[in-house]
Amino acid sequence: MNTLRTTEKSLALLLKTRSHHQKRFFQRKTFDHILKCPRNNVYRVPTIKCQEVVTKPQIRSFSDISILNPERANPEEAAKELKPIVPLSISRFPKRNLDVPSVTKVLQDTMPAASRFLLERWKEAMIRKLGVQGFSKYQAETFERGRLLHALIASYLMGRGENQAELSKEIVQNLWKSIQTVVRDKISNVRLVEHIVTHPKMNYRGIVDCVAFFEDELVVIDFKTAEKPKKNIESLYDNPLQVTAYCGAINNDLAIPQHVVDRNICSGVVIVAYIDGSEASVYQLSREKVVNDYWKEWISRLDQFSRMQDLKKNSEKLTR
Ligand code: MN
Repeated sequence: MNTLRTTEKSLALLLKTRSHHQKRFFQRKTFDHILKCPRNNVYRVPTIKCQEVVTKPQIRSFSDISILNPERANPEEAAKELKPIVPLSISRFPKRNLDVPSVTKVLQDTMPAASRFLLERWKEAMIRKLGVQGFSKYQAETFERGRLLHALIASYLMGRGENQAELSKEIVQNLWKSIQTVVRDKISNVRLVEHIVTHPKMNYRGIVDCVAFFEDELVVIDFKTAEKPKKNIESLYDNPLQVTAYCGAINNDLAIPQHVVDRNICSGVVIVAYIDGSEASVYQLSREKVVNDYWKEWISRLDQFSRMQDLKKNSEKLTR
């Protein structure tokens, strides 16, 4: 049985090697554990060996992790109003943790076979129609119209008005026409705009389009562009999972101050703008769906992703 001093030593060693967020997490966890185990004034070392934690910081299965943060108020008990602020907007990740995968990467790498099949079939048809060069030009344009619309909405939500330079293109004018009524009338009290979010325990991150009140609930909002109408939620493919993953990250991200987000968020809105200017589609992801279905699905995709990473590492070792 070890003494408290030994524990302190290994703790210090552990803390030296951890990042700031992880430090706070481990500190709290380990001290709690020590304090709960006094036995005739002899303190037991936590059952998790510190050295083990240093070399294997990743949790293998996330199935027990809740989307909610127990230290934050739940949506139903949070105040209706939140003091308005200048929204936070940091869209560049710090250099130090580049190995943390993004939500988009996880979803792309673990795309279900049926979706992948449809995507490949669509690509082949497009290449037959436009040719290889034509198709890559089409893809670049799709990316560019998304980028321009996101920049325009971000500028508007930050309170800087509509950016005229971005509105100079006809396609962006149409997209803005499609979406502006919803953005103006339904979104208020904006908290985050194109902001980085990181889940410190589940080890993933992303850039959330917007966190704001949609009508009277604080939600995660994602904007999309489309050519053809998205008639049902299925046509959004993995988008609900992406929004859900952001909810989990925001709830647990220690870098988001309490005055910016004071409660757990577990519902989202996906707003699809159309290039012909027709009225945008709005898909609301209910709290019930997010907590019970999408979160579980996201966890299983993240588990699958980390298993794939392990396989990759092992096969690299073998071929070396
Ligand atoms: Mn988006």
